[in-house]
Formats: sequence, C-alpha cells, structure tokens
Amino acid sequence: MQTDCRLPNRHSASRLAIAMPEHNPDLWAPWRSEYIRSLGDQPADQSCFLCDYGASPQADAENFVLCRSKVAFAVLNRYPYTNGHLLIAPNRHVGDLAALSDDELNTLSRMIRDSISILTKVVNAHGFNVGLNINRCAGAGLPGHVHWHVVPRWEGDTNFMTTVGSARIISESLEEVYRRYHKVAEEATSS
Ligand SMILES: [Zn+2]
Repeated sequence: MQTDCRLPNRHSASRLAIAMPEHNPDLWAPWRSEYIRSLGDQPADQSCFLCDYGASPQADAENFVLCRSKVAFAVLNRYPYTNGHLLIAPNRHVGDLAALSDDELNTLSRMIRDSISILTKVVNAHGFNVGLNINRCAGAGLPGHVHWHVVPRWEGDTNFMTTVGSARIISESLEEVYRRYHKVAEEATSS
C-alpha cells in the first residue's frame, strides 16, 4: 500500500483547525525544538543514540536507562513532552515493526505495561499517551530505530503547560524521576 507523506494543504489544514475543540488536548513542548533542530544538523551516517545506549549498560545511570533485558530497554527521554516521558526500544537498530521478532515484541509490550504501572506511582499520572512515530512524515526523529513513547498525562495538564510557556522545568527533574523510578520498581519487586 502506498503511503501519502505530504503535509495537508492550506484548505484541509484550515478545515482541521475548525474541527478542533476549543480546548486542544495536544501538548505543547517548545523546548523540543532544540532537539528537532539538532536532527537536521546530523549527517546521515551519524551513530544512533538508542544503539549507543543499548550497547552501553555500564553507562545506564548517565544515560537514564531505567531497565533492560537481553533484547530491549527503557530510557527517560532527555527532551520530554511531560515529566516521566520515556522511550522503550529494541536493542537492534530496526525501523520497521515487521523486522521485530515475537520475542522482541513480547518483551517490548511487557516493558510498556510495567513502565506504566511504575510511572503511575512515580509521577502520579492520571493517564498516558503511548505510541510510535513511524517515518519522518509521522514525526519520527529517529526513523531508523523504532521506539515507543510512553507519555504521562494529568487532568488539566495542557492548561498548565500553556501557562508556563517555555520554562524548562521538566528536563531539570530527570535525575529525580530516574531515582524515584528505581525506588518504586524495587519496592514492586520485593513486595
Ligand atoms: Zn539504532
């Protein structure tokens, strides 16, 4: 099946805007523009940060890798949409879901399940957005290495985010979230 990756034209974009509810539930994270700009500066052969993290268990604390198995790992996103935003990825550098084995998919699914359970306690999340961006046209910053986003949400969080504007309050708490995540995970394991 052929996929149309073109942006909507002016006419359809305006129709979409009209169809949007008054209180848009989308998140606004202006600090991510730094990350998005940096992607455009990267040469095509630059190494993949997910591959680097997957191959460097000795640097897990430094890289904010939360947990890992033989085939996959979970890591805090350095450019989060919300507090506790993490990424779950296979160790292998594959950009296509069809290239993942059943073992990898099972492991990735369990990591998504467990991370939601733990994050609910770590950041008192009321809900989550969980998803994939496949290829550039869908917003993937790293299309060559498939990864799931797990984004905690709270009632009314978009109003709060809009109010604080571009204040970088989220990335400053990565170390604290990392520490609390391990504490909750260890408590869950020992209980
Ligand atoms: Zn990779």
